[in-house]
Amino acid sequence: MRIIKRAGLTRVLLASAAVLFSASIICGNLPGQAATTKTKPFFGDQYNPENTIMTATSCDEKYEGVPQPLTKKDPLQYVQPWNGYCPPSNLKDAELAKCLPCQTYNIKTSGIYRGIEVQGNKWMLMSCEEAKRGAETSGCPFGAVIVQIDDETGNVIRYWKNHNHVTEWIDPTAHAEVTAIRAVCKELGVFNLGKIDKADPSLKLPQTGKTSHCEIYSSAEPCQCAMPLFAVAN
Ligand SMILES: [Zn+2]
Repeated sequence: MRIIKRAGLTRVLLASAAVLFSASIICGNLPGQAATTKTKPFFGDQYNPENTIMTATSCDEKYEGVPQPLTKKDPLQYVQPWNGYCPPSNLKDAELAKCLPCQTYNIKTSGIYRGIEVQGNKWMLMSCEEAKRGAETSGCPFGAVIVQIDDETGNVIRYWKNHNHVTEWIDPTAHAEVTAIRAVCKELGVFNLGKIDKADPSLKLPQTGKTSHCEIYSSAEPCQCAMPLFAVAN
């Protein structure tokens, strides 16, 4: 799964791997608990449908491909100069965006993802709008969009969008990219999003081509919570 992030925003790493691990135990249903305690809803089952769409939106349009990166310079040597408010926001409340700091360099130089401008890219814009929705509903301004592309036709089959639910679900792992990937895998029935085989008996949604794959757009630089998940989900 290729990863595309918005250029110019910063993201704060809040949780260590140890915290995430312990949180996953706390949030999961332990064996034997169901018989004595009320069953708790699993991740993602508690959400306001007015704010969150957990299911795919069908689509049939040509995928324009991964946008060109903003800079092709050596990320190890290059530090993007601070220009005040980079990049310019094209949201209606652009003034609000000026309150957010933006990062001046890529901290994950080995990451296979590209920084692109919001303007001119439908999926990145959608991702940022989802981040705005997250800020309005849960207080966390992070969004992600996952696009499923048919490998034979090159068309977008469907897409999912989601935002950060950490405070809403009291779940430190519920970052935008994570909730988006959960929703995709749950609905598709597969966890390898780099190669989705039409012949896979587990696959629950239709596709015309023999294979398809997913790409994720993130409104901010993915943190260490989401990055390993990208690798596992391909
Ligand atoms: Zn994250």
